[in-house]
This record gives sequence, C-alpha cells and structure tokens, in this order.
Amino acid sequence: ISGLSHSFDVIAKLGQGGFGCVYKVKHKYDGKIYAVKRVILTRKADSEVKALAHLDHANIVHYITCWPASDNWMSNQERNQVSNTPGSSSDVVTFERASSGERDDDDDDDTSEMESLGMKGYVHRTYLFIQMEFCEGGTLTGWIQARNDMEKHRTTVEIHKIFYEIITGVEYIHANKLIHRDLKPDNILFGADGKVKIGDFGLVAAQTDQNGDPIERSNKGTTTYMSPEQKNKKNYDEKTDIFPLGLVWFEMIWDISTGSEREKVSNLRNQRFPEGFSDWYRTECTFIKKMLSYSPEHRPHAKDIKENLLKFFSLGQRAPRSISDKY
Ligand code: ATP
Ligand code: MG
Ligand code: MG
Repeated sequence: ISGLSHSFDVIAKLGQGGFGCVYKVKHKYDGKIYAVKRVILTRKADSEVKALAHLDHANIVHYITCWPASDNWMSNQERNQVSNTPGSSSDVVTFERASSGERDDDDDDDTSEMESLGMKGYVHRTYLFIQMEFCEGGTLTGWIQARNDMEKHRTTVEIHKIFYEIITGVEYIHANKLIHRDLKPDNILFGADGKVKIGDFGLVAAQTDQNGDPIERSNKGTTTYMSPEQKNKKNYDEKTDIFPLGLVWFEMIWDISTGSEREKVSNLRNQRFPEGFSDWYRTECTFIKKMLSYSPEHRPHAKDIKENLLKFFSLGQRAPRSISDKY
C-alpha cells in the first residue's frame, strides 16, 4: 500500500467505509502494533485528525501521528463504483458537486480544499494516513454480539463500568467544545486493558462558530443511532450525542438481536421498551428515557449522566447482579 509500506507491515484490514480504510499494522522499526486509518484528504479529514490530535484522554483513541500520500490515482469507473456502494462516504457526492461547480450550504463541504484535477477520466487524490493506538479489545458491536450469542456473560457492574467510561469520554469531548456526531457501537472500541476508547472522529464538529453561534447542520452519520434533530437536519448542539448513547446503553443491557430489528429500534427511539425492561431495570430505564427525549433540552448533559451513574450505581462496589437471569 503506497504511503504505508515504507514503515509498516500490514497485518489485516480492520474496516472499510466509503473512501476510509483502517489497517492493523506492525511498525517495521519500533516493532509495535498500530491502527492506521487512510482517508481522503478533505476538510472532513482535516477536522478528524485535528480533533484526534488535540484530544488527550484515557477514553479516547490515542493518536500518534499523520502524514499525507498523494500518489494515488483513481479512475472515474472506480469512483462511481465506490459512490454506488450503500453507506459510502459523502466525499464522492461532494466531489461530484465540486466538478460540476455546484455547492451546498453544508458545513462539512469538502470541495474548497479538495485537490482534484481531471486527467482523461482520472482524478488525483491525496490521502491522509492517521496512525493511532491499536485497540485490541475490538468494538462495542463485538462486545454486544458476543453477549447476545451467549458466548459471554454480562453483568450490570460490567455494563455500568463500560457505560461510565463511554460517558466520561463524551463529557471530555463536549468540554472541548466538540460534538462527535457518530456515536454507535462500531465507533466505541476497547483498549488492551479493556478500557473504553472512543474512536472515529470522521464526523466531529465544533459546537459553535467563531462568534459562538450554533452552526447550521446537515444530517451526516448513521441514521439508526442518529438523534431526531440530526436526522431532520435541524440545528443541533452537543445533546445530539446523548440520544445515541441512550440506544447504546439499552443495547448493552437487552438483547434485541432477534426479530424485526427495524421495528424494535423505532420503538426504542420513541421510548417504547420491550416488556419487562422497565421492571427489571427501573433506574436504567428512567435514564435511558431521558436520554432519548425528542427535545434535546430535555436530555441530560454527559456530566449529569456521569454524576448520576456514580450516585445510583455506586460503580463496582455492589455485588454483581447477573443479567442473564432473564433468560
Ligand atoms: P469514516 O470516518 O469514513 O466513517 P469508518 O467509519 O470506516 O470511516 P472508523 O470507524 O474509524 O472508520 O474505523 C472503521 C473500523 O475499523 C472500526 O469500526 C473498527 O472496527 C476498526 N478500527 C478503527 N480504529 C481502530 C483502532 N484504533 N484499533 C482497532 N480497530 C480500529
Ligand atoms: Mg466508524
Ligand atoms: Mg465513520
């Protein structure tokens, strides 16, 4: 892989989206394992890497360095293939707009700084490689999957510990005047020590503009977890990150892997929980309902959730109550 192989041996491909790609690599000289994400160098990539570089917290993926590589050529055909892939990054769309001279009022519009030159149907792209710590504990998606498949046990203590770390990371992001905008189990990782590491700052945004006014937003991100206001392209603030966390907390507690997924998630989004949930998990249910409030102002701040977790669950100090009793 050009731009990577000079210093790294690629061990595996960890994930691929639109034009983004994450590799598990081993450094040829220091011998350590890292994750390297390759993204197209756009304004979006610029925000992603700047956020990651400035955030320094035990529950945020640790950033090492970044470098550009500009010797990649992509034919129009390849480009179209990628743009037709469901769930592919919006970069392609933006690029198409760029070439037709059209612009939208999107705050994430990449066109201004996107380097592109048409050459017999080929476009030139600059990539940015972002080197970070390798999170060997996998994603929260994997964690949930293993519990739903009953490969592993889950306890309320473990859930509270993990959720506490997630909320601590999010509190830190918000204290740094940023909004993550793409919180979901796929983007929540575990480090070697099992500690939560929030990753994928591909959609990160500032909370306000230079004048301190809320920024007009567009709906980027995964719609399953997205807050109603983000989905409806309304203006939103950091409370947009609280909504998906309500869904994440629920999913950590309750198996919704069978039956009609779509229906279940839409029920959850409307604060309708499966039978038994509110009885078994009265306190959690109260919190999750608040986090899933339709109006952002009714949702608690990350800081409040964190404080309440400490207050109500006296984390780690109580004997584990096995959740698997419900089976
Ligand atoms: P985009 O920013 O374009 O949305 P993406 O969603 O494909 O890109 P990431 O979420 O950053 O990119 O990474 C994709 C996947 O790669 C993750 O869901 C995770 O499985 C894996 N991954 C990412 N970073 C790491 C890391 N530091 N350690 C281990 N695995 C990682
Ligand atoms: Mg991701
Ligand atoms: Mg992403």
